[in-house]
Formats: sequence, C-alpha cells, structure tokens
Amino acid sequence: MLQRVNPGHKALADYRSIIHRELYEELQELAGRLRGARVLHVNATSFGGGVAEILYTLVPLALDAGLEVEWAIMFGAEPFFNVTKRFHNALQGADYELTIEDRAIYEEYNRRTARALAESGEEWDIVFIHDPQPALVREFSGGLREGTRWIWRCHIDTSTPNRQVLDYLWPYIADYDAQVYTMREYTPPGVELPGLTLIPPAIDPLSPKNMALSRDDASYIVSQFGVDTGRPFLLQVSRFDPWKDPLGVIDVYRMVREEVPEVQLVLVGSMAHDDPEGWDYWYKTVNYAGGDPDIFLFSNLTNVGAIEVNAFQSLADVVIQKSIREGFGLVVSEALWKARPVVASRVGGIPMQITSGGGILIDTIPEAAAACAKLLSDPDFAREMGRRGKEHVRANFLTPRLLRDELRLFAKLLGV
Ligand code: UDP
Repeated sequence: MLQRVNPGHKALADYRSIIHRELYEELQELAGRLRGARVLHVNATSFGGGVAEILYTLVPLALDAGLEVEWAIMFGAEPFFNVTKRFHNALQGADYELTIEDRAIYEEYNRRTARALAESGEEWDIVFIHDPQPALVREFSGGLREGTRWIWRCHIDTSTPNRQVLDYLWPYIADYDAQVYTMREYTPPGVELPGLTLIPPAIDPLSPKNMALSRDDASYIVSQFGVDTGRPFLLQVSRFDPWKDPLGVIDVYRMVREEVPEVQLVLVGSMAHDDPEGWDYWYKTVNYAGGDPDIFLFSNLTNVGAIEVNAFQSLADVVIQKSIREGFGLVVSEALWKARPVVASRVGGIPMQITSGGGILIDTIPEAAAACAKLLSDPDFAREMGRRGKEHVRANFLTPRLLRDELRLFAKLLGV
C-alpha cells in the first residue's frame, strides 16, 4: 500500500479577489467538464522541495473543483534515493556512468510502486507522475487499464542531459500521453516528444508560506532567530545543494559587506528525505561560513517551517537566488510575491519570473554583489522593483493559473 498524503482543504472561491475574472470563470467552466474525473499524483516525497510544495496546493484546489484526486508517495529508501539523486544530477548534465546495479535498484522501487497501484484495485482516469523517480511506474503497471491517461511531469532542466541516463529513461517517458515541461528550453535534444505540453509551475498566495504577513509580525518571528532586524539582511532559501550554490552566496555577502559593513546573511534550507547529499553540503556551508556571527544558517530541523520562511522572505532587504542550474525556482516567485527585490542567476525558469524591472538577473558573483549593494543603498529603487515583481507574479505564477493549465490538459486527454 502506497503512502497517501492528506493535502488538507482549500476553496477556489478564496482566490477570486486575487486573480483576474476571466481566469476564475474559465476554471469554473473546466471544473464543470471534469467533475468526478479520478486523478492520481505520484511523486517521491511529501516533504521538501518544489514538487511537494506545489501538490499541497494543487491537489486540494482540484478537489474543490470537483475532481477526485489522490496523492501517493512512491516506495523509496536510501539506496533508491542515492540512485535517483545521481539520475537527477545526470539529467542536469553531471558526469555519471549508468551501472547495472543502479538500474536494478531504480527498477525495483518502480516495480514495487507499480505493483502496489495495480493491487489497490482502484481506477484512475489520469495518473500524473512527477519527475524521474517514478518514471517507470507506467511501464511496470502495464498502463493499469485501457482508458487511463498518463502524464509525466518534468520539473527539472534536461536540456544538456547525460546521454546514458536519457537513453535509458526516454523510451519509457515517450510512452506517456503527455510530457509536461516548464519550458521548451528544458526538453532534451534529439528525442521524441509526442505529447509535449508546456506548463510553468506556480505558488499559492494563500498558503502559510505566502500569505500576507505584517512587517511587525515578520520582524517578531525573524528576531527570535537572533537576526538583528535593525540591520539589513540578504536571504537565500534553498536546499543545501551544489546547484543552489550556497557557497557562492557567502562570497556575494562577503563582497557586499565591504560596502555595507552592517549587512547580515541568512541561508535557509530544508532537508529533504530524498536528498542524502544535503547533509554533506550543509556542513560544507557551515565550514565555509567560518564562524561569522552575521551569517545565519537555518533549516526545518531548527524549526524554520513555512511561516518562518514567509517571515524571512517578507523581511529580507534583498533575496538572492544564486542557482547554477534551476528547475523553475519557486522561491523566486515566493520572494517577488512579497514585493522583495530579487537578485538571481540567469538560469532555468528564473528569467521568465524576473522580467520588466521586477528583479535583477546576474551571471557572476561580482554582478550579484553590485546588484545587492545598489538595492541596499537605494530604497526607492528597491521598492519599485518589488512592486513590479509582485504584479508579474500575480499575472503569471499563482496556483489558479497552474490549475487551469492542468485542467485544460486533462480535458484534452480525456476528450471532454
Ligand atoms: N523551502 C522551504 N524551506 C527551506 C528551503 C526551501 O520551505 O528551508 C521551499 C521553498 O520555499 C520552495 C521550495 O522549498 O517552496 C523549493 O522549490 P524550488 O523550486 O525553489 O527548488 P527545488 O528545491 O524544487 O529545486
């Protein structure tokens, strides 16, 4: 029996005043056509990272729209997550030799997951598989039943993949009825994409992570962590992972400090169950910080949950996202939605979030440091930037738009 996640309850009507009217009306219309459709989401973890974050919003909203939605976590244990981490890195371009042992481990957990689905006796109209970890579930379950439509959702950038892993996985992925990518630029070169559908992710403006928090409340929370709220601070919220470059963020902070000596740095990172490298990188970052009392490292294990992330993001003077590779980078939309000025790398989905003056795109550490110093010294510039970024997110990256795109895809696949 696969672990099911209870995602709680949300009501679409609560979003009505935040989003544009046409979007709300289209959602009502799609909901009417899809009422009762049975949808199963499968991913690797219910905790940590962007996919779980999205499902915690999307699943309850789709339920509220009248669909019958379930969210199941595939089987997994450390050996499997070690392999899928290697696959993940390889698909993002890292060197890696695909071994028979790794394939065997990968297939074993996919087979067990597929068997559990088949044995449950439940039937779904749509099975929505997230990322490479459960990508072979479709193959091993034999497609479940005739009418089931299969969607594979890729949340990462596979544009320069390790060929061995791609050649191994892709024949299975091409079998899905739809391959959903955040943007065309992330798709792998030279492969068949029979059902390519482009859907960027989104953030939930009403979740504890993103709901409006007063400056006083945010300040009260942040000060409890020892950060001096009377002095400016830079923030990066990200898993401790080389792709997120926390060491580079420390370099940026050190350069900014030469111009703004009172600046502080806060690094917040959750530890995900499917991320065994996280701890190594956490200690690497702690060492690199070298005992600087103005560098703060927090994680979910030091009580930084959604509300606390919200408080840090709401109060940060500049939010940095110095990723080297990025899927979409939900944290960028989260910061922009809080009207924060954001300084972020020109990678992955970040440029589509930072447009027309809502944030600053950078390519190097000195550029990032110069952008941070400028924002710290020019509050009017920073405020205007934050305002523009927020409006861009309102128009493009809030969950009702994501729900609409997915419901459109379901309706197309089911022919309703
Ligand atoms: N996150 C969090 N606490 C942390 C670090 C990250 O809640 O300490 C959340 C963050 O707010 C965002 C998600 O995890 O919602 C990360 O998604 P993103 O797309 O930025 O990166 P991913 O981890 O999926 O590569």
